[in-house]
Amino acid sequence: MKIKMIDLALEKPELCCGCSACAVVCPKNAITMKVSDNGFKYPIIDSEKCVECGLCLKTCDFKNFKPTGKKPQVYAARHKDPDELATSTSGGYFMAVCQYVIENNGVVFGSRLDENLKCVHAFAETYEDCKKFKGSKYVQSDMGDMFSHCEQFLKNGRMVCFSGTGCQVHGLLSYLKTKKVSTEKLITIDIVCHGVPSPGVWDKYIEVFQKNTQKKITAVDFRDKDYSGWAAHVEKYSLDDLTEIHSRQWTTCFYRHILFRESCFNCKYTTTERNSDFTIADYWGLEKNAPEFNDNKGCSLVMIHSEKGKTVFNIINKYLNYKETKLESSMQPQMSRPVWKGWDYGYFWKKYKKNPQKAVKKYFFPSNPLKLFWKVEGCGKKVLKAVLKKTRKRKA
Ligand SMILES: Cc1cc2nc3c(=O)[nH]c(=O)nc-3n(C[C@H](O)[C@H](O)[C@H](O)COP(=O)(O)OP(=O)(O)OC[C@H]3O[C@@H](n4cnc5c(N)ncnc54)[C@H](O)[C@@H]3O)c2cc1C
Repeated sequence: MKIKMIDLALEKPELCCGCSACAVVCPKNAITMKVSDNGFKYPIIDSEKCVECGLCLKTCDFKNFKPTGKKPQVYAARHKDPDELATSTSGGYFMAVCQYVIENNGVVFGSRLDENLKCVHAFAETYEDCKKFKGSKYVQSDMGDMFSHCEQFLKNGRMVCFSGTGCQVHGLLSYLKTKKVSTEKLITIDIVCHGVPSPGVWDKYIEVFQKNTQKKITAVDFRDKDYSGWAAHVEKYSLDDLTEIHSRQWTTCFYRHILFRESCFNCKYTTTERNSDFTIADYWGLEKNAPEFNDNKGCSLVMIHSEKGKTVFNIINKYLNYKETKLESSMQPQMSRPVWKGWDYGYFWKKYKKNPQKAVKKYFFPSNPLKLFWKVEGCGKKVLKAVLKKTRKRKA
């Protein structure tokens, strides 16, 4: 069998967000999502099966997306239930939508960590199960065959809420459009997204972490608000001996922009004009726009893009404390442009592809962080050169 890799993973990785729409839409099952050496999944075409119908390219929203040109309605909102607020990453708006969908015998799709701590998309039909989707997981979520499940629920007349990153939600919408599935009963929520870290690096990180501690991680909270509030951004690892470790190791590399998928630097959804019903995020600028929510417990920014979104918001606002605010005063960089590449992005991946374990140890568990800085991209040489140049100038 002749299997050919679409050039995407190797030559044009910035053009594929990995949403999987091309794979599920293929009428010949000629496309599979395969893990590349950077730990992200890319589509591979079986050229024996491919009939070159072009449906995959037509369905690729990442290639075809254009901002809608419509300004959203904007709210600062947070759940009235203090428990929901405390256990959600922002203000718990997502759980308020879940409440409405489950009450209407609906199904909710979202991202969760499975029993092996892999970040995967799944669906839930009870409120209790929706809680597994709570909280940001700073890893790209594996879509598996969730688009097909979603299609089936909609065809069966169920109400469906689908949540995920901008690329996942728009990938689903494009897939349903190609398949001519009615989206009347579909509510979509996407998040403002900095970028998605590699699932492969996450797996390695967990492996090294457990080896170092000689303990098994049973749960991860990527942002433990209980520990030091919403703003601080501290991770919590629960271990099998019932102890906990708090750290900022993963978060630090997340914000250094070295773990992201190439397409994140070319993200089309870094706009406030989207096709989803809601876009949610951390509310930036609370101190000016809604000081009554500025108590370090968290608050959601909610953007409403559609008439359906407005109707749902008017029903669920009974679960919320909220205030309408201006879009201009609640903007953050990821709402208007993609993130920039970390300065040592190339160095990290060069090392990772050579020896994943060693690279993860070096970056996440450095024995001497200064030594790492010295080595990266010839930093040591550059610093030394600059110092020598200055010293020579002074002497002259
Ligand atoms: C990778 C990533 C990057 C982010 N970057 C930003 C940012 O730049 N600016 C900002 O303001 N906020 C960012 N967030 C936070 C996000 O906006 C909040 O999670 C969102 O506001 C939801 O808050 P909530 O309190 O309503 O619900 P929560 O309970 O906190 O979040 C649950 C929702 O997040 C979804 N979700 C969680 N992890 C993932 C994942 N890995 N992939 C897809 N969907 C996921 C769930 O499906 C569910 O819809 C990011 C989150 C993630 C996962």
